[in-house]
Amino acid sequence: MDKVSPQQARRHANMAAIRSKDTKPEMIVRKGLWKRGFRYRLNHNRLPGHPDLVLRKYRTCIFVNGCFWHGHNVALPQIHNSQLIIHNSECCKIPKTNRDFWVAKIRRNKERDKEEQKKLAEMGWHCITVWECELKPSKREDTLDSIAFTLNHIWLQDHQAKVVPYPKQDEEDMQMPMAAE
Ligand SMILES: [Zn+2]
Repeated sequence: MDKVSPQQARRHANMAAIRSKDTKPEMIVRKGLWKRGFRYRLNHNRLPGHPDLVLRKYRTCIFVNGCFWHGHNVALPQIHNSQLIIHNSECCKIPKTNRDFWVAKIRRNKERDKEEQKKLAEMGWHCITVWECELKPSKREDTLDSIAFTLNHIWLQDHQAKVVPYPKQDEEDMQMPMAAE
């Protein structure tokens, strides 16, 4: 069994804490959306999962996820008879040393992400997850355009639902007999 010393664990926790504050990928998303005319609030502490960006008008939370910490494209199998088969993805390679520790940690993060987004959905929020690897220079602008597209789509959908003119027919029906009298 691999073990991680308390110092190691603390160091990784520190690294995670540092990374979660004003990390570069998050800055890219912020600047890219700002440039495209979107306005947002940052690190909304009262919402589940403390979304990185909150766009009230679009009722949308955006999470900018590090591929390693959130296990992008990695399907983590259950440990069975201490056999562990892991399919690494291109952007999330689980270290060979202390494998159990990392698998457990990444699995926990993935589960937490799922729970938090479920809570947000129940509160009526849309969630968009942006992955670090989608923000590489070669993909960046496309990714930002597609977030903008998604936000506009969300707005249209929500807005359309609200402006369905359902009372009109009723009003007319009610007025009809009066008009006939
Ligand atoms: Zn990735």
